[in-house]
Order: sequence, then structure tokens, then C-alpha cells
Amino acid sequence: MFKVCVLGSSAAVPMFNRGLSSQVIIHDTGTYLIDCGEGTQFQIQKYKIKLKNLKAIFISHNHGDHILGLPGLLSTLSMFEREEPLHIYAPEGLKVWFYDFLNLSKSFLRFDIEWTELPQTSQKILIYQIDKLSVFAFPLKHRIACNGFYFLEKNKSFRLNIQKLKETPLPKEYYPLLKSGENVIYDNIFYDFHDYTLPPNPPLSYTYASDTLYDEKFVEHFLDTHFLYHESTFLDMDLEKANLTFHSTAKQAALQALHSNSKYLMLGHFSARYYDLNELLMEAKAIFPNSMLALDGKFYDLNHLDKEINNSFVAAPDEKPIE
Ligand SMILES: [Zn+2]
Repeated sequence: MFKVCVLGSSAAVPMFNRGLSSQVIIHDTGTYLIDCGEGTQFQIQKYKIKLKNLKAIFISHNHGDHILGLPGLLSTLSMFEREEPLHIYAPEGLKVWFYDFLNLSKSFLRFDIEWTELPQTSQKILIYQIDKLSVFAFPLKHRIACNGFYFLEKNKSFRLNIQKLKETPLPKEYYPLLKSGENVIYDNIFYDFHDYTLPPNPPLSYTYASDTLYDEKFVEHFLDTHFLYHESTFLDMDLEKANLTFHSTAKQAALQALHSNSKYLMLGHFSARYYDLNELLMEAKAIFPNSMLALDGKFYDLNHLDKEINNSFVAAPDEKPIE
């Protein structure tokens, strides 16, 4: 299983039912959170995300719309009696800010946080490894230090050759051993896993690239990504604003998908100036047809992204802006 749920797709301010930046990754190895804008814990409840298996949080940069949900979320996890340690990978300074807040409110957490402070990277670096997943940080260019994250599956299981296995008396409880590449002896018969499995599916990968100025050289850090999330705060007609605020346009996000040879692109981090997101989607699709919009509360299954491509046009939301 490898799914991404978007918890917030709005840039800077919550708008039109769009929350602030945060995404959950649900993988066979556990649950991971990327960024934690204000309101993230409400979105988690609204979209019925279970955090029992939360292994790590990755923070791209220290702007408020990406971090202000952290004290609330972690306090709630503590009240829900979480005890296992939690890894947090975050830019320098976030740890001090977070503990200042705890001290200010005389709060404490029941669980330990294992902090890794990430400087502004200049190249792709491996930051987290678990049995079947690696996570890398890579450089982005924003007004303050900002890193993207690249999630790559590894050691994928062999696929069972069910047709062949049906011809044997081997009980199903031995199948996981074959899947993990182990031979089995059962009832004095030797089963070589090579004979009963097919090669693993190619590893899937997910790239999170937000917030950043467009720079074609960044694509070297996420070449051949299966599913690329790239910020597209603006339409290309607002390129000047994008450059001024160190953000990208939908067209630029599509170019990054094209140049990195990614398979699918998700646009997100939308400016509150756009009421109707279809314009951003069309701009990207003109360059990269496999583009889709990040929609709050939607689960994107990396194994079944094809169906999202024709599916992702959205009607403008009914809710009018609150001025
Ligand atoms: Zn930012």
C-alpha cells in the first residue's frame, strides 16, 4: 500500500474549504506526515486518518502555513496516550520554537521526539530508512531554508505465482516466506521461492516539492518519480508574483514533471486568489497531460493513479471567500 492523502492544498491562508499545507503518506511500513499547517489535526479527524502508526514527520520549511499545526497535533497525540518515540525532520530553529511553546504553556509530551535538524541541503541526502522505504531530502529555493522530500520504496516483495501454487499442497501461511524470498520445506518437499514467485513490481516513489522558485536543475533529485507533488501557487500570467515570492506556476510545475520524467503530477499550494482551480489544471495539462489537482481529503493511491487523470476536474466550490 502506498497512498497520499492531501490535508491542505491552500497557500498562506485557508480558503474555499482548502486547508493549509499538510499531507499524510500511508505506506506498508507506516504512516508519515509532511508539513503541518494550522488546522492539520482537524483535517486528520475530518478525513478519518489513523495516526497510531505515525512514524515520522517531515517539515519542508519554517513558514507558518507549514508548521503552525505542530504543537496542537503533538499535544493531542500525547493526550491520546501515544508513547512510542516520534521522528521529526525539520529545518534548524523549529525545535527551539517548539520547546519554547511547550515551556510557555507548561506542557509536556508523553512520548520522546527524536529530532533531526536539516540545514538547507545542496544535494540529495538520505535522511530516513526503514525496511522497505527510504526518504531523501533535496534542495528547493524559497525565501527561507527549504527542502523537498523524495520517498522511494525498496526491497519490494516478490509476487506470488498463484496458478503454480494452486497445484501444490503448500498451506497459505507459508506464502509470506516465499514472497520475502525465502525457500520453504513443507511435508518433506522443498519449495524454491524462484519457482513460485514472479519478480517484484518496480518500486514506487513520491516527491514532495513545496515551496520553491522554478529551477530546472532541481529535477536531477527526483528523476523518474512515479508521483510528483509540485507546488503551483500561481497561474503563469502571475509569473512576476511567483518570482517575487519564490513560488512556482502551474506551467512551471508541469515543466518540472516533464523534465524529471515523472509519471504523474499533482498540483497544490494554491493561492487564495484562484477561486476556480481548473485553470491551473488546464495550464499544466497543456504541457504534462498526466496532471491532477491536490484536493483536500482525497486519497491518491500510487498503484491506481490512472483513474485520477480524467477525474480531477473540479467545479468551483460554492463557498464564497470571507473577506
Ligand atoms: Zn513558504
